[in-house]
Amino acid sequence: MTLAEYMSQSLMHTSHGYYQQEKIFGAEGDFTTAPEVSQMFGEVIGLWLADRWIHMGKPDPCMLVELGPGRGTLMADILRTTATVAGFNSAMQVHLVETSKQLKDIQRAKIPNANWHDTIDNVPEGPSLIIANEFFDALPIHQFERQKGIWLERRVTTSDTGFVLTLGPTSAAVSLITNSFQGAPNGAIIEVCPAALAVIDNMADRLKHHISAALIIDYGYVKFALGDTFQALRGHKYVDPLEDPGKADLTAHVNFESLANAASNKGITSTKIIEQGAFLMALGIGVRAEKLAGSAEGANAAEILAALKRLTSATEMGKLFKVLALQSPELPPAAGF
Ligand code: SAH
Repeated sequence: MTLAEYMSQSLMHTSHGYYQQEKIFGAEGDFTTAPEVSQMFGEVIGLWLADRWIHMGKPDPCMLVELGPGRGTLMADILRTTATVAGFNSAMQVHLVETSKQLKDIQRAKIPNANWHDTIDNVPEGPSLIIANEFFDALPIHQFERQKGIWLERRVTTSDTGFVLTLGPTSAAVSLITNSFQGAPNGAIIEVCPAALAVIDNMADRLKHHISAALIIDYGYVKFALGDTFQALRGHKYVDPLEDPGKADLTAHVNFESLANAASNKGITSTKIIEQGAFLMALGIGVRAEKLAGSAEGANAAEILAALKRLTSATEMGKLFKVLALQSPELPPAAGF
């Protein structure tokens, strides 16, 4: 099977898939995401969304859509923050795009009034605010390897010792490799993610037909490049992605340039692709942390400042994570970029 099929089955299989497991996030799980690090992340994003909504002309109703909401922490922090923005929460119809039954149950406990969908295709049309944090990295990638002047597809097959990678004929996804890579050297690897482009396509249609904005945050790279970023995390450690499918989180770095280009090609405005640290600081997370720390006891104050560092410093999440906003052409420039 292609690596994309392997990734998709390992993550999404309805009974053995990774996202059906119980302990995914946090200290006991396999990884920690920004909203799980601190409430401050959702607070500043909530204000970013409120600012967009005001510039959109305060549509009511407005779809508040989150792709891959995990434990629902980000959406809960957003809604707590925006409760202070007159008219915002009552205008929002919350739509969560989630395939994992187990995670849907956790989300329902935090956001009982939300609506759930398996794919963005089923979210009703209308003015929308869309947020995706660490969603795109979970979408299945295809990998191709250059051999003697042609691309071959990396596929997963069985051997006496378990699953192994092999090279085989290419699937249609090979057409997504841009011409500038045709001179790549022997052994060079390149990744493409048609599933991500399909989501952007859907988003772009929404942003075109109804005044709307979308915010995408993930680890990834700014320019389309050669390289293998397929990885597996289990118990906060990197493991072999072909060992024990369904037991580790499989991801790949997000090709932000390809997302921005796909949106621009459909007439959607895309911002610059910037680093998470710069984005959160521009939105005032530093000021928020000082305020929270100022009113907290000693150990708690230190924890708040440590969380700020985790989210924004170049050696932690601040530089690896990138941020891109897409919006309807008639909206004024987005804050934070
Ligand atoms: N945004 C959350 C969770 C990130 S983990 C956070 O920041 O904490 C990835 C999330 O995306 C999980 O909720 C997972 O179940 C969901 N997901 C992954 N692939 C998906 C797909 N193809 N369709 C819908 N949801 C998906």
